[in-house]
Amino acid sequence: MFTSGFKLLRVLGIPIYVNYTWFIVFSLVVYTLAVSYFPYFGPYYEPFLRWIMAFAAAIMLFSSILLHELSHSYVAQKQGIRIKSITLFIFGGIAQMVGESRTPSGEMKIAAAGPALSLFLSGIFWFIVFVLKRDMATSPVLAISYFLASTNMMLAVFNLIPGFPLDGGRMLRAFIWKRTNNLNKATLITSRIGKGFAILLIIGGLWHILQGVFISGLWLIFVGMFLQQAADQGYRQTLLHRTLSSVKIRDIMVSPAVVVDDNMTLDHIVNDFFFRYRFNSFPVISGDNMAGTISIHDIKGVDKEKWPFTIARDIMYTKIADFTISPESGALEALDKMLDTQRGRLVVLENGRVAGIISQRDIMQMLKLKADLGTS
Ligand SMILES: [Zn+2]
Repeated sequence: MFTSGFKLLRVLGIPIYVNYTWFIVFSLVVYTLAVSYFPYFGPYYEPFLRWIMAFAAAIMLFSSILLHELSHSYVAQKQGIRIKSITLFIFGGIAQMVGESRTPSGEMKIAAAGPALSLFLSGIFWFIVFVLKRDMATSPVLAISYFLASTNMMLAVFNLIPGFPLDGGRMLRAFIWKRTNNLNKATLITSRIGKGFAILLIIGGLWHILQGVFISGLWLIFVGMFLQQAADQGYRQTLLHRTLSSVKIRDIMVSPAVVVDDNMTLDHIVNDFFFRYRFNSFPVISGDNMAGTISIHDIKGVDKEKWPFTIARDIMYTKIADFTISPESGALEALDKMLDTQRGRLVVLENGRVAGIISQRDIMQMLKLKADLGTS
């Protein structure tokens, strides 16, 4: 749902994507500001000025949201958590993190960073409002600052609601986690609070609609439904992450792996390996050591007549780091690398030698087995 969009820019090495829904909201914000918000401040603003102000204010609002997300990401990066991307969408942003904080205090810092930044921005804009208010009661800068001061404040307050997966919920989760030493329990409690809050929003929205206030009513229902879904997903994701990180590759890899020798001809490899085992690629070894990997794709790049005279070494892919993983890594890391590199299998490498193979299917089967046996 949040992956469709286009790349806007790159900050802290993180690609920032903009979801298509964002354009609808952006236009709505600009329209509302130009047609009703700013005229309320300065009824005599020229229409052209109002639209310029509205556009500038909307850009700054979305920059504030981006800064909020980036401050979470910055703190996470400092803890060694990789941020794959940030997607700005309808209400805010979603940072795609690889892994989670390992300690309650680490999680607390990441969660608190966003609202802290929003409060800080709000403070700056309140200060500008305070300074300008005396003699420039209707200046456009004052009107824009007032808008940004209040929206950043709302952003902080909304995110501080103690329901998971909102920032406040993450902070409460970190607190319970520290107290009980049980992340699953902490996630369950806070995601229930998140769902409860979501239901309140939906009820509030219905009440608004009954009162005839349709737009804000629909808005509340929409946010409530989104939050409820996010609370559910967040809980399940935490459980999945826990299970995946607790399983070592060594315990689930297939060993020994079927390997081809670097001086085998392509003819030989196609007939005795690809046709026989029906994998898409095989690790290539030279002597005892890992040398590369060879795939159907690599072989298809060579004319068929040359297969009897071409050996694996000539065409194998040798960037070993791209397709290998350590047996001590967790299954989550392996799955992530597979998704990142779009490979269905990774070679397990130990001291330069092929220790086994791990595939997406192996990991999924392990998860299913754990779920069936109730041991996850
Ligand atoms: Zn946040």
